[in-house]
Amino acid sequence: MTPRPRTIAVVGAGIAGLACARTLTQAGHAVTLFEKQPAAGGRIASRDTPFGSFDLGAQYFTVRDARFEQALAATQVGRQRWNANAVRVLDEYGRVAEAELPSREAHWVGVPAMDAIAAQWLQPLQAAGRVQLHTRVTRIEPDALDRRRWQLHSTGPEDSVHVFSGFDAVLLALPHAVAASVLRQSGLAARMVERIERVRVAPCWTLMLAFPQAVQPTLSHLGPQWNAAHSAHHRVAWVARESSKPGRSPIERWTVQASPAWSQEHLEDDAPRAQAKLLKAFAEITGIRAEPAHAQVHRWLWARTLEPLGASHLWDGNSGLGLCGDWCVGHRVEDAFVSGLELALAANAG
Ligand SMILES: Cc1cc2nc3c(=O)[nH]c(=O)nc-3n(C[C@H](O)[C@H](O)[C@H](O)COP(=O)(O)OP(=O)(O)OC[C@H]3O[C@@H](n4cnc5c(N)ncnc54)[C@H](O)[C@@H]3O)c2cc1C
Repeated sequence: MTPRPRTIAVVGAGIAGLACARTLTQAGHAVTLFEKQPAAGGRIASRDTPFGSFDLGAQYFTVRDARFEQALAATQVGRQRWNANAVRVLDEYGRVAEAELPSREAHWVGVPAMDAIAAQWLQPLQAAGRVQLHTRVTRIEPDALDRRRWQLHSTGPEDSVHVFSGFDAVLLALPHAVAASVLRQSGLAARMVERIERVRVAPCWTLMLAFPQAVQPTLSHLGPQWNAAHSAHHRVAWVARESSKPGRSPIERWTVQASPAWSQEHLEDDAPRAQAKLLKAFAEITGIRAEPAHAQVHRWLWARTLEPLGASHLWDGNSGLGLCGDWCVGHRVEDAFVSGLELALAANAG
């Protein structure tokens, strides 16, 4: 029997929320997607600068689940392989400890930037008028006109307050701590909150650097021959030459991700202090001591899942409340996709 079409709110337009919203829309439900930012993507984020773009969240994605491949192919998402053999493993002094990662699976990047997937998946929902950007959901409560349904309280630009009502189901595709906070504020789903509280996710300070002086006729790039590396340096876990990714500007650009432990320890540092420390570590690792023309840091409060939920999603068919996000399963873009998809399948089944 085909499930009866329902009115469903999906909160959060990262990969989990987008996967969830598009699957339920395809199943015939009336879905509205709420996102606090002016654009979709969440931690798949790209930042434009005069020197070219930076992927300041996810650097690349893997495709292990056939359903992810199918969704990417069906929607013709702009993506290209990024040479996986270029990924090195460095010791704490920046010396190459392993020439390449043991795994030879494809490292995919969105083109022209990582956020291409999100933009492509948002587009049909937006064209159908099903997306509320600039809308931060703060509370869920029973609908004032029909207590069997839900309504959402939200804040928008300049602290404007809106209430959206008439939802049969509310699916939160939020970082774990935000989902727990919205449920707590709403006095709902105490058992779900208890389970979320066991999830642990590490922060990540991220540094973006541009060296336009490297693009000279005689000098194609600065520093090491490799383009990306996992690092055992105590401050830095990952360095990548953004300009080596396909479809990017050729201006020499690097992204540096601090280690989970260092990010946690320096969580409350101010941005200039974190930037100076990471720049020093970058110079130690790569040998690049030139002054960057552009340097900027970003602090991600929730970057890498250390302890996942251990289930692909949470769904309560009686109340119509559900939860998804990468933190349910792991720390990768694909985990977010699988979580969002499986919540949609559960909610569709009722
Ligand atoms: C620095 C960094 C590096 C990474 N590197 C990789 C990598 O190389 N490969 C890989 O596969 N993965 C990587 N990841 C992980 C990957 O980015 C995530 O697994 C994935 O993007 C998470 O998607 P999500 O939809 O679960 O959550 P999110 O992307 O966090 O989406 C949640 C959305 O909810 C919105 N939101 C929050 N609060 C509210 C609210 N109250 N109301 C409405 N909307 C709200 C947010 O703005 C956001 O858009 C990295 C992550 C980070 C931060």
